[in-house]
Amino acid sequence: MKQLITILFACITLNASAKEGMWLPFLLENNIADMQDFGLRLSADDIYNINQACIKDAIVGFVHNDSPFWHFCSGSVISAQGLVVTNHHCGLDAIRANSTQHHNYLADGFWASNYDEELPAEGIGICFLRRMEDVTSRALKGVTKQMDSQTRKSIISENINQIVAEAERGTTYKANVDGFYEDTEFYLSVYEIFTDVRIVAAPPMSIGNFGGETDNWMWPRHTGDFCMFRIYANTQNQPAKYSPNNKPYKPITHLKISTKGVSENDFAMVMGYPAVTNEYLPAFQLQAIEQKIDPLVIDARTQLLNIMRSEMEADETVFLKYASKRSHMSNGWKKKIGERRGLQTLNIVNQRAHSDSLLNAWILSTDSLKPYKNLMATYQRLYNIRLDYQLALTLISESLLAAEPIYLAEKFLALDAFDKQSDAKKIARTINSLKNDADEMFADYDQSLDQQLTLTALRFYLQHTNSISQELKKFDAKQLDKMYASSIFTDSYRMASFLNSYTPKMNKKLEKDPFYAIAKECNSMVQQLKIYHQTDNAIDSLQQLYLMLQRQFDTTRVFFPDANSTFRVSYGKVLGYTPNDGVSYSYVTTLDGVMEKVGQGSHDYMVPQKLRSLYNSRNYGQYAMSDGRLPVCFISTNHTSGGNSGSASLNANGELIGLNFDRAWDGIVSDMQYNPNICRNITVDIRYVLFLIEKLGEATWLIDEMDFAK
Ligand code: ASP
Repeated sequence: MKQLITILFACITLNASAKEGMWLPFLLENNIADMQDFGLRLSADDIYNINQACIKDAIVGFVHNDSPFWHFCSGSVISAQGLVVTNHHCGLDAIRANSTQHHNYLADGFWASNYDEELPAEGIGICFLRRMEDVTSRALKGVTKQMDSQTRKSIISENINQIVAEAERGTTYKANVDGFYEDTEFYLSVYEIFTDVRIVAAPPMSIGNFGGETDNWMWPRHTGDFCMFRIYANTQNQPAKYSPNNKPYKPITHLKISTKGVSENDFAMVMGYPAVTNEYLPAFQLQAIEQKIDPLVIDARTQLLNIMRSEMEADETVFLKYASKRSHMSNGWKKKIGERRGLQTLNIVNQRAHSDSLLNAWILSTDSLKPYKNLMATYQRLYNIRLDYQLALTLISESLLAAEPIYLAEKFLALDAFDKQSDAKKIARTINSLKNDADEMFADYDQSLDQQLTLTALRFYLQHTNSISQELKKFDAKQLDKMYASSIFTDSYRMASFLNSYTPKMNKKLEKDPFYAIAKECNSMVQQLKIYHQTDNAIDSLQQLYLMLQRQFDTTRVFFPDANSTFRVSYGKVLGYTPNDGVSYSYVTTLDGVMEKVGQGSHDYMVPQKLRSLYNSRNYGQYAMSDGRLPVCFISTNHTSGGNSGSASLNANGELIGLNFDRAWDGIVSDMQYNPNICRNITVDIRYVLFLIEKLGEATWLIDEMDFAK
């Protein structure tokens, strides 16, 4: 039986050009021979070494300063003056925050011509991994097999606090311990996080997000998805708050850039911070995702996105206001559609059910595993209980909380805690933060479109729920008109006057606001559903066992830990693919393809006149391929995920060849199962990035500070 399952997994992973997995660079000894077989010309020490400069020292994670261990994007250092390159979509919020009516850096792009012109990216931190270490035995000290999961968790958390305190002591570093393999192993990561970060350059959005929603998650792709930041440090070259006196950071090392370009079958590796994957779920969970959870999300969002689309197409002002809101909603929506399609077309649930049944048969036939004989049945039973509340929560968040007035009103529930005795400072802080939330919503707001969205969201909720809700019971479209005419959550003036004159006495008035009442009810439904949280701990323990037994059963397979926003490397080759019979995709796209798409006349395919002129004169300088065309993007077989956006793509010598920014439609399901034949990550070719900096932005001073491989 063991042989059977080995063959099954081998079918999934055997492909000489592709390797599933997001590996830990500090444990690379396990992979290095395989990587070298793939074509790598470096040693494990060249990639990760805490005693000498190595590639890891040039790879960065992007964090929000209020969550310093969650890397929303990745990037790399490409000069001795702290210049960092990442994706445009990673810098989008910072670029938007610096844009004004007179300086629309999103639309026009931004090219600083010296340090003084660089713009602060408030709230963003850039972090370097200084070291990683296996601390499993310390984290599990005092934990026994018999312990219930709550006790286990609290002992581990105390142990972790000590490990972290020790790692940070006497340094300016920040440490974190993450759980791996369902919290059966624990690794410490020590970071240096810089918080004075400035925007250096970004192409216009029409290039940085070329293809927009139409091309998102798609190949062939033609997006110049890059922007640049610079890290600043104090006079000791250490992290410091923003100050005009800070100086460009002098990094330990920086990446060399290769302008030689890539050919099909070249080695490629991606280094960065993939966020979340779920590679080891049992079949019944995958089935629930495919048949229940994903369809619910897709259905709700399809209805909302359709309304947005028709209103946005009809009115350019509405288009501009809702472009970012729509892309936010649509990114996850499209991903789910692709993921579900992958689950179905690749027959993943049935394959997993087959391997689950082999695992179960092995458990039942092995004497020492008697205590686990009911594992799969118990797991499935508990999961089904949890599924009901997971669906209820998903419904609330995809319908009720998708309505902006309800979403905003939910934040105002914080005011409930105040009365006339409350601390004035605390009230002021809360009001301030609510002002920011309200400003964010009303900055891009169209009441008529919003009302249609809310109507659809509420109807969707009512169609799908069987819990009768007090506030919503009375709901109809006419009533919604009245709600919009009176609520503070649908009008920026009413909102401002409420917040500017707020005292706890006004909570009474707030209670009467219809959206506040719905938000309150929504909150209490969520609280009630929390009773099901008890199953969560049990399910965590069962998933832990399930993975542990899989690892014992299939000794020929090397299990990589699921992504969890820690530092990883994935490796493979530059390679096209065949999604369907008779269809075959090349590994590379060029500027010719950009212009073909421009010819289609769609909103998502527009480029600045200057790019057209550069194309017309074929003014590509040294960045052209040997056939004279300008490369734009390429695909490779690297196993990547969200959070890998902006990650360095490196060649066999560890030189920068591009920036990872997306995955191709047919293989998006790689967060749950990687398929070597169709899973491809999409990278913007570094030569296109350099061409845009030099020819479009005319920012040659930036090219001058980079280092090129000979
Ligand atoms: N586009 C994704 C991101 O923004 C990358 C991916 O999921 O492949 O993180």
